[in-house]
Amino acid sequence: MTESGTLEGLRRDIVRCTKCPLYKTRRNAVPGEGPSDARLMLVGEAPGAMEDESGRPFVGRSGELLTKLLEEIGLSRQEVFITSILKSRPPNNRPPRPEEVEACRPYLEKQIELIAPQIVVLLGATAVSSVIGPWKMSEAHGHFYDSGSHLFFITYHPAAALRFPKTYESMREDLKILRHELK
Ligand code: URA
Repeated sequence: MTESGTLEGLRRDIVRCTKCPLYKTRRNAVPGEGPSDARLMLVGEAPGAMEDESGRPFVGRSGELLTKLLEEIGLSRQEVFITSILKSRPPNNRPPRPEEVEACRPYLEKQIELIAPQIVVLLGATAVSSVIGPWKMSEAHGHFYDSGSHLFFITYHPAAALRFPKTYESMREDLKILRHELK
């Protein structure tokens, strides 16, 4: 783990991480990006092809939708911190494996600790089950979860919103609830 205890130190640790075999197949690790004092942090599942290519989170179609949805509630992408559960792309975008989630977990925990956002938004079932445990998305979305040390908010992953118009509408409604709570 990082010696410096800074976001930049953490970023350096992540890009050279070999704690799980995904380092062998990734092109670039994707630590995440955004201000170190962001009020809001968004956590997805894992980098896809474009993220792996660029080393930046949510730059593909899901990212475009996420940016649009944020703008609808008056937030710019530049003011939030965006990352994912896994920092390396699983081959062919297969779902993260439990041992990969465990290997990556300390990085997310440290990011949350260093940024100390008001709210951490969990995007989709992988983020939810990895951070707070299994919870059906149809029941969990639109809800806050207070772990005692952090406040989480649950909504869908933008990839699901791209596929299903009803999910898209639910995600928009969820984000209005989030906006209301954000100071
Ligand atoms: N989906 C994710 O969950 N994370 C990314 O960075 C890109 C797509």
